[in-house]
Amino acid sequence: MPELPEVETVRRGLAPVMEGRRILRLEQRRADLRFPLPERFAERVANARIDRLARQAKFLAAHLSTGEVLVMHLGMTGRFTISGQRQGEFHHETGHLTAHDHVIFHMEGGESVTYNDPRRFGFMELWPAANFEAYPRLRTMGPEPLSNGFSAAYLDSALSGKAAPIKAALLDQSIIAGLGNIYVCEALYRAGISPKRLSRSVPGLRAARLAPAINAVIAEAIAAGGSSISDFAGTDGNLGYFQHRFDVYDREGEACKRCGSEVKRIVQSGRSTFYCAQCQR
Ligand SMILES: [Zn+2]
Repeated sequence: MPELPEVETVRRGLAPVMEGRRILRLEQRRADLRFPLPERFAERVANARIDRLARQAKFLAAHLSTGEVLVMHLGMTGRFTISGQRQGEFHHETGHLTAHDHVIFHMEGGESVTYNDPRRFGFMELWPAANFEAYPRLRTMGPEPLSNGFSAAYLDSALSGKAAPIKAALLDQSIIAGLGNIYVCEALYRAGISPKRLSRSVPGLRAARLAPAINAVIAEAIAAGGSSISDFAGTDGNLGYFQHRFDVYDREGEACKRCGSEVKRIVQSGRSTFYCAQCQR
């Protein structure tokens, strides 16, 4: 499942062919993804220029010259592929469409951007730019890592009085936007905090370690994703999934890089948590 850094990697990969360009034609191959696609979707975006391709948490937001914002979410298995007549970075020939290619943007410049999503947990919605701050799926979200609103002081107030394990609190999008299972595990390891610790005991010294740990983990992953973008051109043109080396995530039974003891895996709220019981208290 793509997390914030992967979505940022997708944004950076798409920007060269989408930002500042017009959507000449949108090809819609089914009525819905996770939710119905917008009414008269093709008509509403035809000839619209994408003035800005932004990202908020795990949402891509294409600000259109028509006054609407096209919000796109990759869900669990969504991916974009760029193909086109012009050869070069990010471009390759697809040849034919597959059953899971649901939406194709034919862009000014000759490229096409294909949205593929086998499980269809992703979605696309149009919302007026004039009150985009009221867009329901973003309105209730907390600050995202690396933003001005996110700090140790913010964590102090957001976590105080909360009984849920810190792992669960960090996955709660209303507390922090855009964090998913992988980077929560990594940030807790880096901050030396047990994933089982009650949230209300984190404010103070631990929050002072946790906020910069979250920022560092996300910043490094974005940098790794950015450096992987050029690889896509040589492979299959897919954006958004890259191999990244993790300290604890998916390393059950392997040695902790800090103390050498075994990395453990437990299940919290139905999801795997990887951690070192020696280093994380
Ligand atoms: Zn350790």
